[in-house]
Amino acid sequence: MTYLERLNDKQKEAVLQTEGPLLVLAGAGSGKTSMMTCRIAYLIDKCGVSPWNILAVTFTNKAAGEMRERVDSILEEIGRGAGTQNMWIATFHSACLRILRVHADVLGYDKDFVVYDTTDQKTVIKAVIKEQNIDDKKFSAQYLLSIISDCKEKCMDPEKYIKTVGEDFRTKDIYKAYKGYEATLRKNNAMDFDDLLLNTVRLFERDEAVLLKYQNRFKYIMVDEYQDTNTIQYKFVKYLAEANNNICVVGDDDQCIYEWRGADIRNILDFERDFKGAKVIKLEQNYRSYGNILDAAHCVISHNRGRKDKKLWTEKEAGEKIKYHRAEDERDEARYIATEINFRMKHKPDSRPEPFKFGNFAVLYRTNAQSRVFEEIFGRMGVPCKVVGNVGFYDRKEIKDVMSYLRLVQNPKDDVAFERIINEPKRGMGDKTMEKLKGWAAERNLSLLELLQDDAARGSLSAKSYTAVTDLVNLLTAYHDEMDDIAILEIYDGILAKTGYLKALQDANTVEAEGRIENILELRSAIEDFQKEMPEGRLQDFLEGKALASDSDKLPEGEEAENADKVLLMTMHTAKGLEFPVVFMPGLEQGLFPGWRAMDREDGLEEERRLCYVGMTRAKEKLFLTGACMRTLYGKTDFTKESCFLNEIDKKYLDSDISAGTPRSDFGTRTATAFRDGYAENPAPKSPFKGMVSVQREVMAKSAGNGPDLAVGDHVTHVKFGRGEVIEVDAKTVTVVFESEGRKKLARGIAPLKKIEG
Ligand code: ATP
Ligand code: MG
Repeated sequence: MTYLERLNDKQKEAVLQTEGPLLVLAGAGSGKTSMMTCRIAYLIDKCGVSPWNILAVTFTNKAAGEMRERVDSILEEIGRGAGTQNMWIATFHSACLRILRVHADVLGYDKDFVVYDTTDQKTVIKAVIKEQNIDDKKFSAQYLLSIISDCKEKCMDPEKYIKTVGEDFRTKDIYKAYKGYEATLRKNNAMDFDDLLLNTVRLFERDEAVLLKYQNRFKYIMVDEYQDTNTIQYKFVKYLAEANNNICVVGDDDQCIYEWRGADIRNILDFERDFKGAKVIKLEQNYRSYGNILDAAHCVISHNRGRKDKKLWTEKEAGEKIKYHRAEDERDEARYIATEINFRMKHKPDSRPEPFKFGNFAVLYRTNAQSRVFEEIFGRMGVPCKVVGNVGFYDRKEIKDVMSYLRLVQNPKDDVAFERIINEPKRGMGDKTMEKLKGWAAERNLSLLELLQDDAARGSLSAKSYTAVTDLVNLLTAYHDEMDDIAILEIYDGILAKTGYLKALQDANTVEAEGRIENILELRSAIEDFQKEMPEGRLQDFLEGKALASDSDKLPEGEEAENADKVLLMTMHTAKGLEFPVVFMPGLEQGLFPGWRAMDREDGLEEERRLCYVGMTRAKEKLFLTGACMRTLYGKTDFTKESCFLNEIDKKYLDSDISAGTPRSDFGTRTATAFRDGYAENPAPKSPFKGMVSVQREVMAKSAGNGPDLAVGDHVTHVKFGRGEVIEVDAKTVTVVFESEGRKKLARGIAPLKKIEG
């Protein structure tokens, strides 16, 4: 069979339509990437087009690499060797970079300009903030950079920005920052990532000869995942295609999931209007999924209004129904999924020639914070797993930071933990100072924290560092002294609030910082879980448990780890374009998926629905949808209501062990008796987003730090020492005479004291 014979009629039609604008509106798994690869090969093979004259653009380097491999393998098959050497198969950014390397002088740059990454960008914007006297409490570096990026995506320079939004005290500062930032980049002969796109479009606008050169070169242009192009990427394509009008774009309006990053779904919906005489081909056969999966996914997406109607079909049989399971809570949900995986690993279905491997299973969730429970429970239940596209929960920076604080409370000798947190948040301890302190500590055979408990050792620090470090040392020492008498959660909250760690993140006021806050509140959930399971458990037990869990995660390493057979955990965004035999989608609850922030707006909900569609259509053989009656996320526990997406699926495609009314599911996992009717109206949850804010407030209240208002003569109780009377109070300490233990001097706001009526 030749490469053309392997295609269906519609795919073939698209391949043979080599001239003029062509839109292939292809649903998930319908072979649009496969079609495009064949089209490139066909142009070279049968139309005598030189690879030199072809430009193929995709979104990720991985996708570009794969496309090149697939074209090369077809060309080899037909005896034309590796023919893609001279061909541009590239991402938008790398194509633009190549063009600018030749012509940047037109825009006043040297050709050896540098490309700034995010770290460089931050350095520049921070300097600008200082220079321009901008209030960095109101405008963090991250925030300003995200606005600048937004402007560039919309082709707005600083002048256009201020004209568009209007001048007020806020936008004036942003304008100043943007302008200063641009000036610095210019001075340094540097471009950021957005500049690569923007400047290429500017170059085309400014220099007709250059544009002509590339229009003449790229006689055939192809774009994959066209639904996720933004305004500027659209312009880039439009300029290049104008002369020859041979443009083929492939996409699926139902899979546009990057609107929040400027992707403009209108680019694909308006294609026929933008490129006159465009031919539209719809690929409607899906080669990926069984019938039930495909039909159920269609049920969901057909609820979106702003879409071109299309329906996929498959020759495959209906297959198993979609399993819906509503667990008691998120841990029960993870156990259910692990049980299902273990069961399927042991029992090969008749429909499969091969038994399952762990790598055949994927868990696709809405937010990264959901991965934590899976990593923990899977580890315990012998299911090897790997978080894809993001670091595992306990490997995240913020989690390592706050765990280091806890480690120091437990063990003041932990220098690794100390060095990790000494400048988190900033305490002005430079490398030189640290080296000096390490030298002294070594001489006196002390750890860094032990050394700094000595006031004399702190004497050498700058005034600012002295105060910050003294507070830190006192705090850690006080918690260490009390650690067996206070709940771990109390210590944790106290650390977050009193060290200023949480506040620094709140002040950053960026999407990134918000993600970090979500994660540290998620660690709060982990502590609550631990205390539920081990009410007597101490800080040490908690830390040891986590250390073991993350150690076993590290094996095996390197290449082996890549190839090791593991269940894959990732967000639905990361899963785009991929396929797996068995897919689990956990967390189908209002407020989580769809998320609260999206639910406020109709178009937000539509984007979540497309994401749901992307997730469901990743499954080839079996799809599981799950949720939990009660969920603790970001440190807040709430009853949940089922996701509206579930109700959009026709019941005939669903196999729900809950509505069946059986108290036990197939594999013996308990279902929630109280909520057995899966579609019953459960108490509406409070917004977890609002919940997150209230937990933060609760935690922050502890930064005030002095605990109950105590005065001499007050009667108090202490968890360990029992009843007593206050005899002395100062800024930092309370002295109490206890009935059984006598006189004790305790740290205010840390010692677990409660005021009682005399
Ligand atoms: P996505 O929307 O997820 O990006 P896609 O439309 O790009 O999907 P492909 O990745 O090209 O789809 O193909 C999906 C699956 O279908 C692949 O496993 C591919 O090998 C298979 N496939 C594509 N076309 C055919 C065909 N004509 N006959 C049989 N299998 C096909
Ligand atoms: Mg694809």
